[in-house]
This record gives sequence, structure tokens and C-alpha cells, in this order.
Amino acid sequence: MLAVALGVLAQERGNLILFFLQNPVGEETYELDSTHNLHADFAYTERGSRISLTAALRMKPDLTPERFEAKGKSYRPFSVDAMVEAGPDGRTALVREAGKSRQAALPARFFTVEGYAPFSVQMMLLRYWASHGKPARLKTLPAEAPGTEATVEVTGQDTVAGIRLTRCSVGGVVWGRESLWLDDRGSIAAGVSYAGGLPLEAVRPEFRQALPQFVRSSVADRMKELAAGSSRIAVRAQGTFAIAGATLIDGTGAAPVADSVVVIQDGRVAAAGARGTVAIPKGAAVIDGRGSSLLPGLWEMHAHFAQVEYGPAYLAAGVTTARDCGEEFEIITAARDLIDSGRGLGPQLVLAGLVDRSGEGSFGVNYADTPEQGRAMVARYKAAGFAQMKIYNRIQPDVLRAIAAEAHRLGMTVTGHVPDGMTARQAVEAGMDQINHLGAVYQEMRRGGAEAVRFFVEHGTVIDPTMSWNELLGRAANVEIASFEPGFAKAPYTLTSLIGTASGRGSSNRDQLAAIRTLYEAGVPIVAGTDKAVPAHSLHRELELYVQAGIPPMDVIRLATSGAARVMGMADRVGTVEAGKRADLILVDGNPLKNFADLRRVTRVVKQGRMYDTGELWTMAGFH
Ligand SMILES: [Zn+2]
Repeated sequence: MLAVALGVLAQERGNLILFFLQNPVGEETYELDSTHNLHADFAYTERGSRISLTAALRMKPDLTPERFEAKGKSYRPFSVDAMVEAGPDGRTALVREAGKSRQAALPARFFTVEGYAPFSVQMMLLRYWASHGKPARLKTLPAEAPGTEATVEVTGQDTVAGIRLTRCSVGGVVWGRESLWLDDRGSIAAGVSYAGGLPLEAVRPEFRQALPQFVRSSVADRMKELAAGSSRIAVRAQGTFAIAGATLIDGTGAAPVADSVVVIQDGRVAAAGARGTVAIPKGAAVIDGRGSSLLPGLWEMHAHFAQVEYGPAYLAAGVTTARDCGEEFEIITAARDLIDSGRGLGPQLVLAGLVDRSGEGSFGVNYADTPEQGRAMVARYKAAGFAQMKIYNRIQPDVLRAIAAEAHRLGMTVTGHVPDGMTARQAVEAGMDQINHLGAVYQEMRRGGAEAVRFFVEHGTVIDPTMSWNELLGRAANVEIASFEPGFAKAPYTLTSLIGTASGRGSSNRDQLAAIRTLYEAGVPIVAGTDKAVPAHSLHRELELYVQAGIPPMDVIRLATSGAARVMGMADRVGTVEAGKRADLILVDGNPLKNFADLRRVTRVVKQGRMYDTGELWTMAGFH
């Protein structure tokens, strides 16, 4: 009202439909007036949680920000509270971020942005970039960390509904890169980004039908970027080579072998044992493993591989196989194929196909409301090479039974959440082979005690507790994340600014750790997964929590390697350091059997017979 009274007219208005894993969940509306004030409202409701954020951005006529403020939530556990106000001299600014204020110097060129939301602020960033000489790197505020800069690359043009759109790959606003499309007037037409590490798309209503095209286009760019980044990473050894002098912890549970020799040939372990018992082929390069331990590559059993940055990050943490627990079909199959082809760096991806019931509050867009639809969904995932089905919360009991029976008939297994209204026991009786997250299992144990544990033992129910995520969400406000998860201190600003605000219902208490130990000692297969948390690093935390729970370090190493391979039916090929197995190996500085935290010190990783330095991989993934 005031604006109208002063004669300031809206110059531009727009709205975007927001999608979470391609499921429409909300809307962003924005208005830009003739005095260069942008106001945006961003809101969606996702799996029952209402997320909303507002942002205001005042700019000079040349689009230099004068005042920026964003407040609200961008994803269920993550809050945004950011403000940047340029001083009258234009050289310094007052910056507030997550409750802390400071003065910051303003460089000659900069823009203000805090994460992917709202998209209209990113649209203004692109306009600023285009009208200020298209700099290779553009400093952003309120980020404090030096080197927090946005990068923009025009990657192509897409004709959508007869209109030509320019596609940009934007880096440094979220972890990794997102895609944004602008029309010829510079208005945003679509965006493909990530909320809390899961895909979030924004599309102007007139282009709504083209969502699949936007997704395909962005996936193609991400694959090119992963391939290009991978081609710049040096392969330190391949073909025939040996690693000598390391303490071998082979993943079978056998006693460690001091001063070992492991020979790698054409992607496989050719021989492994004590020095003197294994011949090193003539002319083979020999890697000095003294002072290190040599282990099988680790398994991340609860990944959501929404972003290609997970590829190098996981390898850097020593993860050579990752089970994806539900993701958009397009990115996950493309990433798996690129990695399998050897052109993209990352762990081998083993896929679980996400399925939920349609309607309010569902997750993703692959639905089964009837047993017939459930069987059809299994067939679709089977044809695409998925190993498992991932059951989500709203699946009905009869549909679960149909999915499980069909999956088993086709040689697949079934993992996932215990559906709403069912107990863990009922879900297992309906055919679930595995259960993600400790929660429902823990409740069953509290109800049924030793009888419940016996039930899971008899059924061989596989459980990935995801305790590291619970610990992060449930931590007390005065506890620094880096105090229990040192990987947090190495994460880029784009991750720490979000994860640092994480709060929720999670908890990792002694009773839950004791429950994990009880299950393990009774013979229930436990596997280690993170459900993201601090990408890749948190797998180490997950394993440390199992050691804290009282599971011996040797057993924890085994469950994170050969144990995971066994429950996925792959133990004949991978998971131990034995002759004939795939050469997925890690070299760790120190000895995790003596000091478990040494497992974080992965210096080299061998993936299918190719060896890389982990430092380069961390850098590629954006970590310090
Ligand atoms: Zn998950």
C-alpha cells in the first residue's frame, strides 16, 4: 500500500511451482519494484512439514545489493536467518548470520545470497553477474569463509514450450552445482537445486509440463561436470601394482597381518598375505604401506545420492560402495552408469527403488496404491537394474505384501521405512528384509523385549540404524558439531551454514546404543548408513558410535565391509581383501584396531584397481 502511495510500481512479478523429488509441494512468489526492491515468499509443505521463508533485497540501479534479509526455513531441519546491510560508504557491511553479527569488508563486486531459496534472489545474482562482466568467481555474502564464491557457467539453451531459455550451471550457492534457466528478459523459468541434499525443483507455471525436460537437462550437465572433474584427478596406480608393508585387516574378521603384501591386477586382488608368502610380479609398482593399515573399501548403506559431489566425497572417506536408499530415478541411474563406465569418480552404487502411496504427504513420484501397481513398480525398477525396493511411510499393508512377494520372485530384496500404522514386526511379516533407521526396531524392542530380538534374529532382518544423523539432530544447543564430528570443520560454508542449524527430533542416547549392541550380539545383521548428515564424514561417526555402543572395532570394520556385501548378495565379488575379490581398498594412516578414529585418516583409496589420493578427492568435492 505504502509503495503504491509513493508511486512505486511493481515492475515485475513472478511465481514458481516448487517440487520436492518432482512432487509439487508449494510455491515461490516474488515482486520486483521500480526502485529495485525484491520481495520473495517461498513456501512448501513436504511430508507433513510446513517450510517457509521470506527474503527482501534492496539494490542500487546497477543491482549492487544494499540490504538483504532472508529468514525462515529452507528444509525440515534447517533454518535460515541472514542479513547484510551495506554501510553508507559502500565499503563495509553489517552482516548477521545465524544470530551472530559482524562487520565485513565489501569487495568491488559481490552479491548477497544464502542458499538456494528463494530462487528469485538467485535470478538477481545471475542478472548482476551478466551485467558486471560475467566474472569467473563472484564473492557472496553473508558467507564469512574466504573463498565462498559463486560461479556461473552458461551450459546451453533449451527450447521449452516454444520459448528459448538459457541454462546456467551455478556453483557455490549450495554444495555443488544447480541448474537455473532464464528467458531472454532475464526472468527465471526454472531451477533444479537441492534442499537438505534432496532434489528440489522450481518451475514457472507455463513450463510446468516440461519438468521432466528440465530434470533431464540438469542431470546431463551434472554428469558432464562429474566426468570433467574426474578426468582431472590423477590415477596414482593401476593395472598391476602391489601395496607392501601395511597392516592388513582383510574384512573377514581374521587377525590382522603385519607387514603384508597385496597384489592388485586388472581391478582385482591377485594375492594378499604376509610378506614372503606373496610374490610381487616383476616390474610391478610397489606402493609403500608402512605405518598404514590396508582394509576393504567401506560401505555406506544409507545414501541419497542426489548430487554428483557425493562421488568424490565418498571415495575420499574410503567408501567404495554405496546403497542408495531412495532418490530421483533420473539422477541415480545416470550417476550409477557414469561411475560404472569408469568416467565418473564415485562408489559403486547399489540402488533401492523408492515407492510410496500417492496423495497428501507422499515422498517422490513413484506410487503404488494397489497390489497391481506395486508389482508394476517392482518390474520397472528391476528392469532398470535396482537391487532392492525402498518402502516409504504411506504404503498400505496389502501393497507391501504384493511388492515384497514380487521383489523376492524377481531376486530383489525389500528395505525401507516401516509404513505408518504398522509395527516393525508386522512389516517384516509382510516381507520386509531390511529396515532403515533404528526407530521402529527400537520401539519393537521396548514392546517385546528379548522376544522381539529373537524375532529379528529368526528373520535375519537387516538394520541400518542411522545413529549419526540422530545424534546431529538431537544434540544440545551448546554442543559444537565439530566436537563429535570433526568432518564438520572441513565442510564448505554451503554445508556448514545449513547443517549448523540442524535441529529436530533425533536423539542418540545410551539406550539406543545399547539396543544396537543387543541386536548385534544376538546375531541381527547391522549395517552402517548415515542418511547424509555431514556428507561422507558421517559414516565414520556412525561406526564410532557402534564402537561406543560396545561392538568390538574388528566387528565394526567387518559389518561396514564384508557384512554389507553379504546382505546385498555380493560377498562372492567384493567386501574383503582376498584373492579374486574386486580391488576396492583403502589405506589408512595408523591402525583403527588400536585407535578407531584412525579410520578417518584415509590417505589412498583403490576403486576397482585404480588408486587415488584422497586429498585431491576431498578438494574435488568442495571440502577443505
Ligand atoms: Zn533416507
